Amino acid sequence: MSVQQRFGEGHRILVSGGAGFVPSHVVDALLARGCTIVALDNFVTGTKDNVAHLAAEPRFTLIEADVAEGLPAHPALVERFDAILHMASPASPTDFAKLPVEILKVGSAGTLALLDRAVADSARFLMASTSEAYGDPAVHPQPESYWGNVNPIGVRAVYDEAKRFSEAATMAYHRFHGLDTAIVRIFNTYGPRMRPDDGRAIPTFISQALRGAPITVHGTGAQTRSITYVDDLVRGILLLLDSRETGPINCGTEHEVTMLELAELIVKLAGSESRIELVERTADDPEKRRPDLTLARTLLGYEPRIAPEEGLRRTIEFFGQ
Ligand code: NAD
Repeated sequence: MSVQQRFGEGHRILVSGGAGFVPSHVVDALLARGCTIVALDNFVTGTKDNVAHLAAEPRFTLIEADVAEGLPAHPALVERFDAILHMASPASPTDFAKLPVEILKVGSAGTLALLDRAVADSARFLMASTSEAYGDPAVHPQPESYWGNVNPIGVRAVYDEAKRFSEAATMAYHRFHGLDTAIVRIFNTYGPRMRPDDGRAIPTFISQALRGAPITVHGTGAQTRSITYVDDLVRGILLLLDSRETGPINCGTEHEVTMLELAELIVKLAGSESRIELVERTADDPEKRRPDLTLARTLLGYEPRIAPEEGLRRTIEFFGQ
């Protein structure tokens, strides 16, 4: 299965959260194809530094705006968009506690505002959803047909339920308005431009390893994650964008590592002397998570390519700069 490129030179694409970690890499990839990009960001978790290299790029406009408040009046937002990617949302575990209402708003009012704009423009709408939609899964690995196991009142619920609402809204606009939509369920992704202090395991472990501080592994460290290097994810997102698929489609890697293995690998690759320290586990932290990639493979021809050693090496290099 090979997907024909649908979006390239001459196409205008709106990316919410465009100054964030993953979205800024998506922006780079779309610019490299010749697209014109307008990014909306309120910098709640992202930073202008992530797109500073695009300051002189005439096909890139960055607008400071909170998408939960609707789209602002701005000359770059007047002309129609060919595609809208809704990627704005705080996404790290520390954000769940610090920004609960912001997360709920961007995943509800923000999603509806961008869906309305997509209807007005007859644009393709891509929703960046998450493996968190599966909650603490009772099925392993997780196929898209699995409905999930989410605690609706837990600390992670603001994020999980906001994304589940966004998925429901996307499908409602698809069915009711005939909108061309796509939902990608993103699994744990890492790479350059992550925030060192965002509370996710990889940046935390790398920062600790580079400082020679103890690597704090939650619980016994036996819980697993599949970790995806950002370039693999971006390829998957663009394949879905180019396709006619609605999804949801999982995007990630099947390669699972325990948190303890991850900590040990990072210590080794960073050439660090750090020791590993087991600390208390956070509430509702899923035991294991791994995507079933059958749909991504068969419908999009997606295949992850970057091994953890290589991806982690590149990320450690970025953090060490
Ligand atoms: P990130 O925090 O680096 O990026 C999100 C961006 O959205 C930030 O720049 C932030 O400032 C912006 N933003 C947040 N609320 C906003 C608002 N109301 N208005 C405008 N901008 C707003 O996080 P990320 O890890 O790059 O995640 C990007 C997207 O991918 C998110 O939607 C996230 O839920 C999704 N996702 C990421 C992962 C992952 O492993 N990184 C996994 C699953 C899903």
